[in-house]
Amino acid sequence: MFCPNCGKVVDEKAIVCPYCGVATGKNNVSESSNTLAIVGFILSFFLTVVGLICSILGYKKSNEMGGKGKGLALAGIIISSVSLVLSVIILFSSFATIAAIIGDL
Ligand SMILES: [Zn+2]
Repeated sequence: MFCPNCGKVVDEKAIVCPYCGVATGKNNVSESSNTLAIVGFILSFFLTVVGLICSILGYKKSNEMGGKGKGLALAGIIISSVSLVLSVIILFSSFATIAAIIGDL
């Protein structure tokens, strides 16, 4: 292939041009989107714990990818955290209700 900057012939696997040092854009193709952040965001609605883990991993990956999918990963972390807290509250309040019913018997 040819360098997009200086036009010299560069190796197909070259990430940076050896002649002028400009990025060939080769490494940008394989990482076009932050899949983990997207999966984590979707799962945070259905599988809270799995969604939270995926979102955290997606957030870490977004730092490596120059902030790609960072907002989505953050949203996934927030949504899954909130629903996790809510489900714990519901669980405890239902236990309290059951305990109260048993206590009345
Ligand atoms: Zn070049």
